[in-house]
Amino acid sequence: MKLVTFTYQETTRIGAVTGDDIVDSLDDQAIPLTMLEFLAAGDVALDAMRELIERRKHLIRLSSVKLHAPIPRPGKYLAIGLNYADHVEETGREKPEYPTFFTKQGSCIIGTGDAIQRPKLSDKLDYEGELAFIIGKRCRHVPVESAPEVIAGYTIANDVTVRDWQARTPTWTLGKSFDTTGPLGPWLVTRDEIEDPHNLSLKTWVDDELRQNANTRDMLFNCFEMVAYLSQAMTLEPGDVISTGTPSGVGVKMKPRGYLLPGQTVRVEIEGLGVLSNPVAEEPENLAYY
Ligand code: MG
Repeated sequence: MKLVTFTYQETTRIGAVTGDDIVDSLDDQAIPLTMLEFLAAGDVALDAMRELIERRKHLIRLSSVKLHAPIPRPGKYLAIGLNYADHVEETGREKPEYPTFFTKQGSCIIGTGDAIQRPKLSDKLDYEGELAFIIGKRCRHVPVESAPEVIAGYTIANDVTVRDWQARTPTWTLGKSFDTTGPLGPWLVTRDEIEDPHNLSLKTWVDDELRQNANTRDMLFNCFEMVAYLSQAMTLEPGDVISTGTPSGVGVKMKPRGYLLPGQTVRVEIEGLGVLSNPVAEEPENLAYY
């Protein structure tokens, strides 16, 4: 299933994409309004959604809704750095002994079609096309071989980064968490539809230029190893998002540098997961509220 969070006629809820339509779950009591509640409800909610798809009732044209990130505000948004050998090489660093996790704040998340704002403070705005997975089950101390069962599904992330702010401190946190630097989507594809998450082509385009062209088979730590490693430290919960790192081809390593410019569009495409597309815009004038 391709699960979406969307707004139609001023109500935000979840549904499933089928062809050019969305199966609307608004009137189904077994299906909660938010993806976090839906994932927490487990198989009962998944079965109810499957039944709705089979009945093909309450269809809304995909083109007539506003899509959001499938999980607009996850409990956790973790990402791994330096997880493709060719990207480690282009950064000039050593291959890490341990997975290098950092956090992106939930407030940076936007959906497909939403604008990535280039901040007034920096012109070093960069893209990172990545496979992301979503936790479907509360878990701790998960062995690698059981990890596939706690993953609800997969989506596309663009780990947009403000490079100079990333480089200011060893933790990267602020440079990874500016508002709008977390494009996620267009939907959550449930794990049963992805035969092997570690053999998917990944491409990132800036306008018509192919910048990243890779395959998830080249990750250093795979999704299941990440679940095992993270869950040694913390309880993972339904809806937690984990982004799995970017391959080579980021703008900061191009000559001349290929930072994102207002007016451009960045598209990340992953086999079986669709396309995550976001225009780049200047941060609006007078953006201050308190
Ligand atoms: Mg990244």
